[in-house]
Amino acid sequence: MSDYYVYILKCSDNTLYTGSTNNISNRLLMHNIGKGAKYTRGRCPSILMYLEHVENRSLAVKREEVIKKLKLDKKVELINSATNELFNGKIMVSACLLGDSCRYDGKAREYPNIIKWSSNKNIIPFCPEVEGGLLTPRLPSEILGDNVINSAGEDVTEYFLKGAEAAIEKCDEEGIVCALLKANSPSCGCRNIYDGTFSKKLVPGMGFTAKKLSNRGIAVFDEDNFPF
Ligand code: SF4
Repeated sequence: MSDYYVYILKCSDNTLYTGSTNNISNRLLMHNIGKGAKYTRGRCPSILMYLEHVENRSLAVKREEVIKKLKLDKKVELINSATNELFNGKIMVSACLLGDSCRYDGKAREYPNIIKWSSNKNIIPFCPEVEGGLLTPRLPSEILGDNVINSAGEDVTEYFLKGAEAAIEKCDEEGIVCALLKANSPSCGCRNIYDGTFSKKLVPGMGFTAKKLSNRGIAVFDEDNFPF
């Protein structure tokens, strides 16, 4: 018997969509390539916000109907409730947050609360820049337009693209639908990135890997907005 999930997505126009599936990672992909549902087709990317396990298809369909009829505030309550199983499955975590010395300066950026929290979770540590072929230590890089430039002015975009592709492959392989990523990084930043002038100025934007995961529907958080 397959496992079924009822899920809620936040669409690009900030509306919520409820569905059910027995293959959540494939379903997220379908939604975000416009083949998931008529409603989400013109509202990509949509991001996973809520996941609830149910035993079979018939229960999934019933639960989906119940959630669909809830008012917006009740859906938001559900997303913030203990029944949200988004954080119970495998979670990709930026390796530097867990103490891996993979940052450009050869250091880690570990957070004791993340290491403590991760001890009883199903964590997949991942560093897109290392997976993309960059050495440690390396020169710092920032996103400038569509490219990534290091502090010597060299274009290192291809490594960042490879790292982002590797992250998607890992998520597909492992069935990962949630990621906790390091804030402000040109790979992992989910909400802000440096502005490309190497002057420590942050601007709204996403790193290459965070953007790719998010466009795939994977829920991405950083250490400042993850609900520990
Ligand atoms: S690419 Fe991500 S995981 Fe790797 S060092 Fe930078 S922030 Fe950390």
